[in-house]
Amino acid sequence: MNKGLLIIISGPSGVGKGTIRSFLMNDELLKLVYSISMTTRTPREGEVNGKDYIFTSKEKFEQAIGQGELLEWAEFVGNYYGTPLSVVEDLRNQGKNVLLEIEVQGAMQVREKCPDALSIFIIPPNMEELEKRIRGRHSEAEEIVQQRLAKAAGEMKMIKDYKYVVCNDDPQLAADMIALIIKRHMLNDIQE
Ligand code: 5GP
Repeated sequence: MNKGLLIIISGPSGVGKGTIRSFLMNDELLKLVYSISMTTRTPREGEVNGKDYIFTSKEKFEQAIGQGELLEWAEFVGNYYGTPLSVVEDLRNQGKNVLLEIEVQGAMQVREKCPDALSIFIIPPNMEELEKRIRGRHSEAEEIVQQRLAKAAGEMKMIKDYKYVVCNDDPQLAADMIALIIKRHMLNDIQE
C-alpha cells in the first residue's frame, strides 16, 4: 500500500480554511483525515475538544515539545499550536491522506521534514474582505483582531514557498480546485 499524502493548507486567519476543509472532508474519494492540532488557545463558542482542537495547557504543550511529540509547532498571537507526530505517521502508513491546517511557520517546518508534502496557500480576494470576515466572526477582542490582521499581512508574503495558491472567492469553488489538485497527486500525475 502506498503511503498517504501529507497535505498542508495555510492561509491568513479568517480566509475560510475551516469552511473549505469541511467541503473537502465530505469528498470520500480524497480519503482525507484531518489532523487535530493541539493548542493552548481558549475554545471559541461551539468548538469541541478532541474534534476542532485538543485544547491543552501551556505546561502540557511545552512538555509535548520537549518530548519530541510534535511534527511542528508555532506560537500564533500569544498561543501555541502544534501537530501531533505519531497520529500523522500512523494515518499515512495506513494509506490515508492527512490534512494539516496550519500557519506559515509550522508549514515551513513540515516542508523541511517532509519535502514531499503538498502545500496549498489560500488567499482572500482582497484584504478588505479578509478584515470583514475576521470581524464577522465576533469571537475576538479588537486587540486580537488587529494582531490577526497584522499577522495576515506577514503571512501573505510566504505565498512563494507554497506549491499551489488558491483564491477563496467562493468556498465551494476553492474546495473543488483543491480537491482536483489532491486527486492529481493521488494519481501520481504531477511531475515534481
Ligand atoms: P485559530 O486560532 O484561528 O483557530 O488558528 C490560528 C492559526 O493557527 C490559523 O492560521 C491556523 O491554521 C493555525 N493552526 C492551527 N493548528 C495549527 C497547528 O497545529 N500548527 C500550526 N503551526 N498552526 C496551526
